[in-house]
Amino acid sequence: MKKLACPIPRRHFLALTAMAAAACSLPRRLFAASAESAVNSFRIAAATAKITTHKLRGNVSTLEGSGGNIAVLTGSDGKLLVDAGITASRRALSEALANISSDPVTHLINTHWHFDHTDGNEWLHFIGAEITAHENTRKHLSETTRVDAWNFTFPPSPEGALPTKLFKKEQKLHINETSLVLEYYGPAHTDSDISVYFADTDILHVGDTCWNGDYPFIDYSTGGSINASIRAAEANIARVTDKTIIIPGHGPIANKSNLIEFRDMLVAIREKVSASKKQGLSLAEVVAARPTAAYDAKWGGFFIDGTTFTSLVYAGL
Ligand SMILES: [Zn+2]
Repeated sequence: MKKLACPIPRRHFLALTAMAAAACSLPRRLFAASAESAVNSFRIAAATAKITTHKLRGNVSTLEGSGGNIAVLTGSDGKLLVDAGITASRRALSEALANISSDPVTHLINTHWHFDHTDGNEWLHFIGAEITAHENTRKHLSETTRVDAWNFTFPPSPEGALPTKLFKKEQKLHINETSLVLEYYGPAHTDSDISVYFADTDILHVGDTCWNGDYPFIDYSTGGSINASIRAAEANIARVTDKTIIIPGHGPIANKSNLIEFRDMLVAIREKVSASKKQGLSLAEVVAARPTAAYDAKWGGFFIDGTTFTSLVYAGL
């Protein structure tokens, strides 16, 4: 179940930060030619991505392979999706959705504003989805938004891609005889992250506040930080039991022990980097000391390597 789908986008993601280096044999040329093209490359690669469906519990499934993990709730009110994947995967996603059930898509929730979770908003809205999100998701999608670490400037999204049902702290929905609780984390991986809890089946989509088996990206450009990411990781642990099924933003389906392992990794690396920074070490010196060495084999193989993650942590301390 781990890391099967879409290796190319994962590799491309590596190049989305200036510090990205090793761990990847593929088209670094492509990025060298134009750093601005990395997000576009990710989108293009999604055109041929394989979509894998995992049935979870009750009427909830996930689709893996186009951007972040997509949750799907089926029923007579129509399908509800959590996150939209990449537009170029529309055909494969449509097929996967049709294979789950014939219900039309009527609702979409965005866990946060990042393109790998919202790129498909416009076509999903076009086929009938009302889009719900935190107000900061709409704000970032509405404006020209620069992500420095990706060296990319996102233009304002078209009207049809914008969430229209907005909230600040908490939003409850009742769809397909299922109670859903949407909760804002406060600043975390960005300043727009929410969790989506399927109460009846005890399934929690945590968006990019957990990357199960990969170092996470931290988006300082739109309000994220390492400390806030750790606070969100703590909040996730506090609200689940050993029975809760957790859908991470990226990586395989998780349980509580995976959340704990993720939090412990974040805390351990923050402590190492923080101690070095307090001694006055520069970023280059901290990177050279390899504070992530003990973690790279497990966490550094795909999206973000140890060097990149060290620089993301260093930036926030
Ligand atoms: Zn994200």
